[in-house]
Amino acid sequence: MPEGNQIHRFAEEHAAVFAGKRVHVDSPNGGFADAEVLDGHKLIRVDAIGKHLGYRFGRDLILHVHLGMYGDFKQGKMPLPPVKGALRLRIYTKSDWMELRGGTDTSIFTDEKWQLLRDRLGPDPLIPGSDPKPAFEKIAKRNTSIGALLMDQSVFAGIGNIYRAELLFRARIHPLRPGKDVNLASLKSIWKDAQTLMSAGVKDTRYVTTSAKDRPHPRGPVREEEERYVYRRHGKPCFICGTKIERAELATRTVYWCPNCQKK
Ligand SMILES: [Zn+2]
Repeated sequence: MPEGNQIHRFAEEHAAVFAGKRVHVDSPNGGFADAEVLDGHKLIRVDAIGKHLGYRFGRDLILHVHLGMYGDFKQGKMPLPPVKGALRLRIYTKSDWMELRGGTDTSIFTDEKWQLLRDRLGPDPLIPGSDPKPAFEKIAKRNTSIGALLMDQSVFAGIGNIYRAELLFRARIHPLRPGKDVNLASLKSIWKDAQTLMSAGVKDTRYVTTSAKDRPHPRGPVREEEERYVYRRHGKPCFICGTKIERAELATRTVYWCPNCQKK
């Protein structure tokens, strides 16, 4: 599932090509019945919050997209590629196209509905000026594990499975530690770290969370197997202490940690 950094990247890429232009919108597989409502309108801008995209065509004319587990975009230069598969949405001009396959939601939101969505989501580390305090306050009251809370989009918006695992490793906090036992200084550093890592992840399509000094090969380009500390590294030695990385199911997704570096 794409995490917030990828969603923000899609917003930037789509805005760069389509914002300010009248666009064609259609739904070859019929999965987005309201496509014709948007067809021929000018796209004003593209907003991203957490894992949600909002293509703004007018005050009460916002195309909401949530990719879910399997949704994905492609884009390119005209002509349009042949229609195949579950092609739910296309946006195109004379020169460019983009396609959405899969996705759990494509629907038209009013401004009020978009605002309700924003209110329901926690602060997004990728939105400049987001205030993390409400998230810190929620976490301080909860017995729920910090590993589950980081994935809860009403606590923080945009953090997914890769960043959850890596942020907790970098903070040396065990994913099963109850939220209320994570002190404020740690939460503040997790937030700052999320801003840094996820911003880098908007530009870089890889998820690199390791510092050069911690990699077995600190010089030269980052090797694929050294991009992350714990995510999908179960059974392999921790870069810091050599202990085998463990994994378990948490909040319906697999979480990874070093049982020595990360304390409950
Ligand atoms: Zn370790």
